[in-house]
Amino acid sequence: MRLVLLGPPGSGKGTQATRLKDFLKVPHISTGDLLRGEVAAGTELGKQAKAVMDAGNLVSDEILLGMLESRLAQADVANGFILDGYPRNLAQADALGQLLQRIGQPMDAAVQLEVPTELLVERIAGRAKAEGRADDNPESVRKRLQVYEDSTAPVINFYKQQGRLTVVDGVGELDEVTDRLIKALAPAKA
Ligand code: AMP
Repeated sequence: MRLVLLGPPGSGKGTQATRLKDFLKVPHISTGDLLRGEVAAGTELGKQAKAVMDAGNLVSDEILLGMLESRLAQADVANGFILDGYPRNLAQADALGQLLQRIGQPMDAAVQLEVPTELLVERIAGRAKAEGRADDNPESVRKRLQVYEDSTAPVINFYKQQGRLTVVDGVGELDEVTDRLIKALAPAKA
């Protein structure tokens, strides 16, 4: 199963992807986690990305594509993946389509986790306390929600117009949302 999980910051993509990977038996690839790994390791890429991430802006398409390309070349991706945090704009959606075609791994499903904005802000505030992410401060959160509206929402429309989008209600208990996702993915998994 090759799944792209879409949704605004705080919609639960990361949490649900972690749960789905056990069910689907494919790795969870989070571009945010990959970038945070680079920052933590103090690499040149991490140094370039840190300030951009902390401000809530998008890291360059070129960096993201290079990072994704090497991740998708690893052996554990042979049976598929859950992609979380990519694509975040139309150029990335286009690049992803081309990359997947090139490696012969076309996408099976694009799923949008839908959560109202008020709830997103509340959830991110909760996560800020629990995890202490540098970009979970109010200013950066506002910026990330704005970037989502401006750059990532068009990606949702792009997949919708192609008839490839499945929308799943992301409000409720974690188990409930996981069950909804599993039901929504059943046709693509079969
Ligand atoms: P996330 O953990 O997915 O919320 O990502 C955290 C931050 O990493 C984002 O706010 C961006 O600065 C950066 N990032 C993650 N994925 C991407 C992407 N596909 N394109 C550009 N920047 C990204």
